[in-house]
Amino acid sequence: MNRFIYLFALIFITSCGSSQSLTDNDAPLPDDPSLQATLWVQNSAEYKALNIQAYETAERMLSLPLEDSFWTASVNQKDESVYRKLPPAIIMDIDETVLDNSPFQARMILENKSYNSDDWNAWCMEANAEAVPGAVEFAQYAHEQGVTIFYLSNRSYEVEEATRKNLKELGFPVSTSMDNILTNGEQPNWTSSKVNRRKMVEDSYRVIMLFGDDLNDFFPAKEISQAERDNKIREYSANFGRKWFILPNPIYGSWDSVMRSEMENENSNAGLDPAKN
Ligand SMILES: [Mg+2]
Repeated sequence: MNRFIYLFALIFITSCGSSQSLTDNDAPLPDDPSLQATLWVQNSAEYKALNIQAYETAERMLSLPLEDSFWTASVNQKDESVYRKLPPAIIMDIDETVLDNSPFQARMILENKSYNSDDWNAWCMEANAEAVPGAVEFAQYAHEQGVTIFYLSNRSYEVEEATRKNLKELGFPVSTSMDNILTNGEQPNWTSSKVNRRKMVEDSYRVIMLFGDDLNDFFPAKEISQAERDNKIREYSANFGRKWFILPNPIYGSWDSVMRSEMENENSNAGLDPAKN
């Protein structure tokens, strides 16, 4: 690669604020494992269509849970006599569900860096992410129908105010009377698993829809294998497109760590197998 062109492109792109795009320059594309996924998010009409498909389907479905008080999207709300009296709420993940952070990924690729929390928090503090296509329109529509929206994110509490600003400026319903942005570490027992935060919402609201880009946005999926994840998808297949809406994220997610740990296990098992030595 011509280092001068690359450096020029890097300076040009990093000076463009949050609008980093990998194709905004004439320099050759860097060699990075997440390059193709990031290019797809930033350039394909298909990425936009998948998001719009999810959010428009959700909007068309919304009258059903509002008319049916037995409807819940939560795997924990089992006692109808309790939850059907509660007001409706929707839980939305933030990153790659309502906010598109592909410019951050492009920045990491162009700067030849891996994900790290310092750069990630700096990006969050800029409060310049764009909305995922279709997300603002759906959230506004649900809000107008009297549904309370909770944003449940693994962004850390230190970037919550910046995240609130970012969401608000894009037109997402952000409450002024209560905190509807639930971040990681905001309360002592609010960990990345999201279970405790979902429970807090479930205690006071009938959860009618869930939105996320990762299985953990719907049910605990951290400690389960790839095969178990596939089984869960079949078990809950009736929920998708009705109660649960999953948005595309080919760049990162729990799928990646599960895949890598299973690959490592397979390799170490192979190493221990005397027949293969
Ligand atoms: Mg997410």
